[in-house]
Amino acid sequence: MGDSKQKTKGANASKSMEKIVSLCKRRGFVFPGSEIYGGFGNSYTYGPLGAELKKNIKDLWWKTFVQNREDMVGIDGDIILHPRTWEASGHVGGFNDQMVDCKNCKARLRADHLVEEAIQMDCEGKSDEEVTEIIRGNSIKCPKCGSTDLTEVRKFNLMFSTQMAKTGENSTAYLRPETAQAIFLEFKNVVDSTRLKLPFGIGQIGKAFRNEITPGNFIFRRLEFEQMEIEYFIRPENWEEIFENWFSEMKKWCADIGLNPANFHEYEHPTEKLSHYSKRTIDIEYDFPFGRKELYGLAYRTDFDLSQHEKFSRKNLHIHDDATGQKILPHVIEPTFGLDRTILAVLCEGFCEETLEDGSTRAVLKLVPALAPVKIAVFPLMKKDGLPEKSREIMEKLRIFGNIEYDQSGAIGKRYRRHDEIGTPVCITVDYDTLDENSADFESVTIRDRDTMQQERVKIADLVSVLAERYFGGC
Ligand code: ATP
Repeated sequence: MGDSKQKTKGANASKSMEKIVSLCKRRGFVFPGSEIYGGFGNSYTYGPLGAELKKNIKDLWWKTFVQNREDMVGIDGDIILHPRTWEASGHVGGFNDQMVDCKNCKARLRADHLVEEAIQMDCEGKSDEEVTEIIRGNSIKCPKCGSTDLTEVRKFNLMFSTQMAKTGENSTAYLRPETAQAIFLEFKNVVDSTRLKLPFGIGQIGKAFRNEITPGNFIFRRLEFEQMEIEYFIRPENWEEIFENWFSEMKKWCADIGLNPANFHEYEHPTEKLSHYSKRTIDIEYDFPFGRKELYGLAYRTDFDLSQHEKFSRKNLHIHDDATGQKILPHVIEPTFGLDRTILAVLCEGFCEETLEDGSTRAVLKLVPALAPVKIAVFPLMKKDGLPEKSREIMEKLRIFGNIEYDQSGAIGKRYRRHDEIGTPVCITVDYDTLDENSADFESVTIRDRDTMQQERVKIADLVSVLAERYFGGC
């Protein structure tokens, strides 16, 4: 759970988070949450464009990993599961971060981050007492107020707990800190209700909650976020090969959503630092403007989860393996994708500021068409003389591509700039020639490409096929 194994900042270092955050608010991607009440910690709202972007990522992920594969199915489980789930998974006992409080300014700090930032030392695996000694021995100061008057290090469980209304011996329940566990709980039901045979996977997209001590970096580290997770059930013999296959699939996904391979990297967790359940873990880290940090993870969890749930539920979760005729408790490879971090990565990757030939600048969001919140914008040159009607007629034909926007206000140049900034791949302008039977450009429109800014005349009759081929072929 460390934030900075690597200090390298990479190609996005020159991009300004401030500008990205400001664009997100101004254009309606991400708003600071509960703003009318003065804001609320690490709360955010995905605005109209952010909600589209998020949905496009989820849809593409589901299509890629669930619908387009014969060996995968999906489920949609609850956020609040039986509390024993989290005892079995190890979260009640072990899902902790070490924290210290500043006695002077009352700031609450993650101890490992404090030490890492002050003296570049890794605290993973060190006891509370050892980390307290490191902080005191090196006179590490509170980054907020500079005081060295810090409490001893102690553990803080990251699960949000809640009380159930029903009475019973224990009414404490938890908001899930990961989506994975519902997949293990329903593993047997999925096998019994489908025709899946090993190896196969179950995917799920949904909210997860973690009471992070120091949330931050915009939507990178949140208290409430979404995950897209897969549990892939295998026979243990050839786990290395399946692990490698999934790693390739994850890298391919990164390329599909438009991340430049130069900006994402592999981080292999050293064996001695692996989580209690994992035999091998690789993270995909991304060069965010604020540093290289975890984007996704891939772990070989052995049969840890299923055997824990067998133990705690006293239910037999072994399944029949057709290949051997034996009962088997499958092992698991887990590719996990953070959705909010995906949104942040594609925004950081796509955001560019360009100086044009005439010396002016433009901000542009180079999103791949499959993710763009608005696929095509249609403009009438003027808001009169039948141009709006013709534009709307064209727009209806293009709805097969997804979210299409009609925009008639302001100069054309300004409308282009707005759509550059929100990542619309192509704009279409309907002008007087479109309606003029005597013009060579009768029944044709201008299409303008976001990235090259090239404009071209295309017959209305050819529009769907030209756009499909150039922009939307794959989606
Ligand atoms: P970190 O080291 O950044 O705390 P982690 O190793 O605890 O992350 P996992 O438990 O592997 O994360 O969770 C799977 C994925 O969920 C991560 O790769 C990340 O994309 C996402 N994720 C985890 N915690 C958060 C958070 N607080 N806010 C947003 N996304 C998160």
